[in-house]
Amino acid sequence: MLPDTRVLDKGYIQLRNFRGNDKDIVNVARVTYRGKTTNQEPLNDKDKSLLKRLWNNGHTSPFRHQTISFTIKAPLFVIEQLKTHKVGVAWNEASQRYKRSIEEFYIPEHFRKQSDHDKQATYDHELVKDQNQALDAYIQSQKDSYRVYKDLLYQGVCREQARAVLPTSLYSTFVATFSLQSLIHLVTLRADKHAQKETREYAYALKYNYLAPLFPETFKIVFEDEMDIKEQ
Ligand SMILES: Cc1cc2nc3c(=O)[nH]c(=O)nc-3n(C[C@H](O)[C@H](O)[C@H](O)COP(=O)(O)OP(=O)(O)OC[C@H]3O[C@@H](n4cnc5c(N)ncnc54)[C@H](O)[C@@H]3O)c2cc1C
Repeated sequence: MLPDTRVLDKGYIQLRNFRGNDKDIVNVARVTYRGKTTNQEPLNDKDKSLLKRLWNNGHTSPFRHQTISFTIKAPLFVIEQLKTHKVGVAWNEASQRYKRSIEEFYIPEHFRKQSDHDKQATYDHELVKDQNQALDAYIQSQKDSYRVYKDLLYQGVCREQARAVLPTSLYSTFVATFSLQSLIHLVTLRADKHAQKETREYAYALKYNYLAPLFPETFKIVFEDEMDIKEQ
């Protein structure tokens, strides 16, 4: 089993289990035309060529029989973005109604500047001038929110209403099980430079620490252009 990956200041990705491999994809495809399937033998050149043809021609259904399941701890605002990936994903998340939330918030290493020309973008290397001032305000707001949360619970307010005062930097945990195709789709969109940096860090880890070693040949084919750039 592959090791856990630490992400951001307190988050992580843990591989729970996975099913299938590159060979399984071509075996599934061969069933459709009653071709010979070989489970035990390593991937050969014919397999690789079929795998490439399937992907490049959009015959993606054989890439949906393999599953990869993770336990992930992330801030709520990252979870919200990851959760928009719905097709081919099973999802279960810690309930803030069931149990009191723990005082555990994401604290960024740096505060980035807003881009002047792109309303969604930030500059990875351009930081706000007074980092300490931003950090103090940020942490104070988390402390205040959690204090109010605890006060409300103390007053007898139910957890499902009290949680509304907590910020989206709060960490939570979820289990997500992806079909191979849905994980490829997620990392394609979320490891891209247009995605939010914090979410990108989770996507990078999913892509390079899990997808690449578990499905190396598929990875090579899907991200071929990217490999060309790296090899230049
Ligand atoms: C950089 C970035 C910025 C974003 N900004 C915003 C934003 O500002 N606001 C916002 O609301 N969302 C935003 N999103 C989320 C985005 O719109 C998608 O919801 C998210 O990326 C999930 O992708 P998806 O819909 O392809 O995934 P899934 O829902 O998993 O769908 C996978 C694929 O299945 C197919 N599919 C799914 N549903 C249907 C359907 N009903 N009919 C036909 N085909 C379907 C599509 O081909 C789709 O690509 C952003 C995403 C990114 C990466």
